[in-house]
Amino acid sequence: MTPDRRSFLLAGGAAVASLVVPEVALADAPADAAKFIADHEREIRPLEISAGLAWWNANTTGKDDDFKKKEDAQNKIDEALSKRDKFATLKALKTAGEKGELKDPLVKRQIDLLYLAYLEKQVDADLLKRITAKANSVEQQFNVFRAKVDGKEMPDSEVRSVLKSSADSAIRQKVWEASKLVGKAVEADLRELVGYRNDAAKKLGFANFHALQLALSEQTGDELVKLFDELDALTKEPFSAAKTEIDERLAAKCGVKVEDLAPWHYFDPFFQESPAVFKADLDAPFAGADILKLCEDFYAGIGLPVADVLARSDLKEKPGKSPHAFCTDIDREGDVRVLANIKPNEYWMGTMLHELGHAVYSSKNIPKKLPYVLRAEAHILATEGVAMQFERFSKSRAWLARMGVCVDSPDFESAAAKVQRNQLLIFSRWCQVMLRFEKGMYENPGQDLNRLWWDLVEQYQQVKRPKGRNAPDYASKIHICSAPVYYHNYMMGQLFASQVHHALSKELGTNPNQTIYIGNKAVGDFMKKKVFEPGRTYDWKGLTKFATGEDLSPKAFALDFQGK
Ligand SMILES: [Zn+2]
Repeated sequence: MTPDRRSFLLAGGAAVASLVVPEVALADAPADAAKFIADHEREIRPLEISAGLAWWNANTTGKDDDFKKKEDAQNKIDEALSKRDKFATLKALKTAGEKGELKDPLVKRQIDLLYLAYLEKQVDADLLKRITAKANSVEQQFNVFRAKVDGKEMPDSEVRSVLKSSADSAIRQKVWEASKLVGKAVEADLRELVGYRNDAAKKLGFANFHALQLALSEQTGDELVKLFDELDALTKEPFSAAKTEIDERLAAKCGVKVEDLAPWHYFDPFFQESPAVFKADLDAPFAGADILKLCEDFYAGIGLPVADVLARSDLKEKPGKSPHAFCTDIDREGDVRVLANIKPNEYWMGTMLHELGHAVYSSKNIPKKLPYVLRAEAHILATEGVAMQFERFSKSRAWLARMGVCVDSPDFESAAAKVQRNQLLIFSRWCQVMLRFEKGMYENPGQDLNRLWWDLVEQYQQVKRPKGRNAPDYASKIHICSAPVYYHNYMMGQLFASQVHHALSKELGTNPNQTIYIGNKAVGDFMKKKVFEPGRTYDWKGLTKFATGEDLSPKAFALDFQGK
């Protein structure tokens, strides 16, 4: 995951009603647009490069000084984008574009995207301060909160470990209930935060914060709900079948009847991950594998070489370094790097395939002839989708065998396929709850949110609410505070991954279930031509159609993960 790379594309259409923006008269729309774009690039580009470098340095060294530099650069970018007079000019340019006065489609597209980037920063400064302070206060409460069980404090890791391993239902219940008390602690603050966020959105002319956030990334609530309804219809049965099998094992483990299973019987506090109830040693084949070489050979073989990326990257554990993984495009001129902490196991094989998927979908393969503003991935869901498309091979026996990785266990294939399928089905149901809850909460914050949360959990995750429970359990999920209106993009990335894989398989004339790309330069050609080269000239809908011939849909995803 690369949360820092969030793109701020903009959607046209939303009228800015309440925000007072002076009228700007344009002398010559095309010339004014060209000047605006050139000025923007001159001012913002060096700041973005220095923010990118400082971010890279901070994460590889852990030095406060670098974190400070990154923050300073970010503040300067925000300040530049918040200027009211510039926004007024942009608004006039956008209107000129809508009237057909900007003939060059690339210029019009840049103006539309810049409009969204500047719009986001037009939030009233006092209100923004209150939002930031409130969000920080909620995050801090999450940081210091410890579940208390029988008078003893329990760190989050211990909560997770009890839920993963205990066979005692009474202890599970106690720990789960204690962990949910953070929701009660932050409930009032979160409600205030939701109110402030809605106020900010309304001042910018939107119905609520959910609608604003979606508009900033060229999405609407209605189209997402339609897509997620289709996803629900196509995955309900396979999910139920997988859950029945999981529930039988969970019940047996804890010595209870299946009908008596409660939320605390799952292995994490929200049932967002697949409980590890099936025997599957996925790590064994990787014990002696050279993950870096496998990645380098694989990507070179499909015509998307990454040797230069790996040479610039920071890939081994060291003190002070971030324990996570990400990929970053520093200058949109090919300086692309990956941060990772590789160990010889399946997790890091998948993660490296994933991060290098981001790396090939970058200025390495987006042509320089595209203007700076358009020289990036079309949308967060598209780059996550490409990363996921490649990541999936770490669980394919056929792929590993062809890459020369020895897979001894005859059960690897079925175990890995089952883990993958269960994870994705369970994650898709969890995303249904998150999308619909946040939409409902921002649209109508005064409703009974405790009830809305459990209604959705029962409907989509098929987990029963504990009898008589009336608590703000939604507020115990930190993402609702700190990464709002975001989860759905990961799910849509999975849909994009499947759909592109199917389109590519069709082009290659192969069965999608057996298409493993190895050594086939046509794979790189397709990805470059159909996915990477357009950059941001299309929005996510346009890119999906251009790459696959169809609108984004859950059909290919359902085909990939419904079978046994
Ligand atoms: Zn990612």
